[in-house]
Amino acid sequence: GRKQYVIANWKMNKNIQETLEFLQQLKEGNGVEVVVCPPAPLLYPAKLYVQGQKKEIQIGAQNVHQEDKGAYTGETAASLLKEIGCSHCIIGHSERRQYAQEDDATVNQKAKQALKRGLTPVICIGETLEQKQQDQTEKVLTKQILGAMDGMDVSQVVFAYEPVWAIGTGESATAAEAQRIHGYIRSVLEYLDVQNAEKVSILYGGSVNENNAQEFASMTDIDGVLVGGASLQVDSFQKIIAVF
Ligand code: 13P
Repeated sequence: GRKQYVIANWKMNKNIQETLEFLQQLKEGNGVEVVVCPPAPLLYPAKLYVQGQKKEIQIGAQNVHQEDKGAYTGETAASLLKEIGCSHCIIGHSERRQYAQEDDATVNQKAKQALKRGLTPVICIGETLEQKQQDQTEKVLTKQILGAMDGMDVSQVVFAYEPVWAIGTGESATAAEAQRIHGYIRSVLEYLDVQNAEKVSILYGGSVNENNAQEFASMTDIDGVLVGGASLQVDSFQKIIAVF
């Protein structure tokens, strides 16, 4: 089957001490890909720490710049993320689309750049509440997928379906609703590449917690979760890993 992922997106939370305490307590995934995505300055200490503990826990970035290097003040190069030991990079999270004006073309450039430097892109897509209410969900997702994948090979990326209305609201999609959308996303990937669409891991994100994770895990096209709030407590995060 497909790789199953449980990814922690800490967003702009945690300091060094909290990060090391969390990683000390976190156990390996036993067949589940566990990826922790801390704020950028904590990536390298986090990587050194899990390496020292010899634990199969991967470290991922929350963002990357699309250019190789140069005069881009405040940005981080994919090659540097790779050098310090990151395996994955979240790309096009709705908070970056909203607060940093990332559009589908930017997401496409960043995903290509990540791949070029050996990072697996975790591409985030999802509709807003307004778009959902106007029955635009499939249309929005199609545009986001085709934009993100322009000139790319679907077999090299991971997708995360994160409905914007479910992020940080405590109101997740139902597992059945998410399964239906994941099936739709896979059909768009099939349109792009019939051979490889079946192999793409599609994660759900948006108010996932230890109580609802099991239901998402039971769905055929839900290959893991991208967790925000509930990934900040190691006990909750560990319980989510356990159901995949
Ligand atoms: P929450 O789990 O806090 O809703 O955040 C989801 C998310 O944005 C993960 O990337």
